[in-house]
Amino acid sequence: MEAILSQLDVTILGCGSSSGTPAIGCRCATCLSDEPRNRRTRASAYVKAGGQAFLIDTGPDLRQQALREGIVQVDAVLYTHPHADHLNGIDDLRAFCYVKQGPIPLYGNAFTLDNIRERFGYALLPPSRNWDKPVLLPETVSGPFRHQGVALTPIPLRHGSWPCLGWRIGDMAWLTDLSDIPEDSLPLLSGLKLLFLDCLNHDPYPSHLGVNQSFDWARRIGAERTVLIHMTHKLEYRALGAVCPPGVEVGYDGWRACL
Ligand SMILES: [Zn+2]
Ligand SMILES: [Zn+2]
Ligand SMILES: [Zn+2]
Repeated sequence: MEAILSQLDVTILGCGSSSGTPAIGCRCATCLSDEPRNRRTRASAYVKAGGQAFLIDTGPDLRQQALREGIVQVDAVLYTHPHADHLNGIDDLRAFCYVKQGPIPLYGNAFTLDNIRERFGYALLPPSRNWDKPVLLPETVSGPFRHQGVALTPIPLRHGSWPCLGWRIGDMAWLTDLSDIPEDSLPLLSGLKLLFLDCLNHDPYPSHLGVNQSFDWARRIGAERTVLIHMTHKLEYRALGAVCPPGVEVGYDGWRACL
């Protein structure tokens, strides 16, 4: 009998907030903890599907994340939004361009790609002979599309006043950095097996979900499994895990699943 190949393989590269955990200069119990799952790099994911390898965001820890997980293949980047903790590792895409001797498409909304053009325009130029800069191809998306046959669905979200995107691939969705999910986006999230969901802190915050808001959205979306991401050092791995409702768990760097 033919082996059943997994359709989708996802790894949390980072599940920290913009400061990462430990936070510089902090002596709190989480930051001093020996629990390795309390060490969080900036938010990003690596997804393999249909033979293609996708990065969700390029945070400032991208190089260390790629070395830690042994990543050598990146076929496209799916951007959520242009905050520094999701974008500023963009220069490290150079290594993946060099490995494949080819450019890498960047998918995002117009808001994000305009920001990338303005701040990192040098990375959007044709390659030099030495591939000494990243060579990236920005492609604005406003609805579901395919990359090399793999169906990708951008999910419009609100992140404070910013229009951001979540991403759905197959039965998995990655929703980082959000304060609200517009009504029109909810049908795009039906039937999920696996949902990664913003959970910044105990308390609500203008541009993010607090713990109870995350639990409410997890219940409303109703994925089989919801994994909390983008956490600050105020959220300790075991303490948060102890109060999660059934079907909700706390993410950690290196967390991985195959669907
Ligand atoms: Zn963020
Ligand atoms: Zn701390
Ligand atoms: Zn953000």
